[in-house]
Amino acid sequence: MKRIIVSACLLGLKVRYDGVSKENKDLLALMDKFEFIPVCPEVFGGLPTPRVPSEIKDGKVYNKDNVDVTENYLRGAEETLRLCKIYNCDTVILKSKSPSCGKGLVYDGSFTGNLIKGNGITTDLLIKNGIKVYTEDEFLKEYVDSN
Ligand code: SF4
Repeated sequence: MKRIIVSACLLGLKVRYDGVSKENKDLLALMDKFEFIPVCPEVFGGLPTPRVPSEIKDGKVYNKDNVDVTENYLRGAEETLRLCKIYNCDTVILKSKSPSCGKGLVYDGSFTGNLIKGNGITTDLLIKNGIKVYTEDEFLKEYVDSN
């Protein structure tokens, strides 16, 4: 069974900044087809749950109180990459729009809900290391199209 690392919030774990999950029932329905391994880069990076929300600005990450939390995000990305290597996992599914897990689109750093092109910190590191990153919607579409 193929192993895939998945954002923990998508699997129903309450690790998001606001202390809830973003459970994706369509992904959970595939648990008998894939071995999903949950990760939360922000928790891996030493941040608490709940936590002050953060966004990327000029390549760094700041929370809404304007505290620079870039180091936490970098550490979470490194630990997620480490997990990919431990599990010999070449594919991940990461939650869209997150400053850690987003792919293609992230919030612009103004905390106004505006999205701009870009990747989350973990997504960026994994892509640079040759790991295939899907958003949840991309993965589900590809799965449906190929089955
Ligand atoms: S860092 Fe990723 S896994 Fe953790 S709550 Fe945010 S989107 Fe979900």
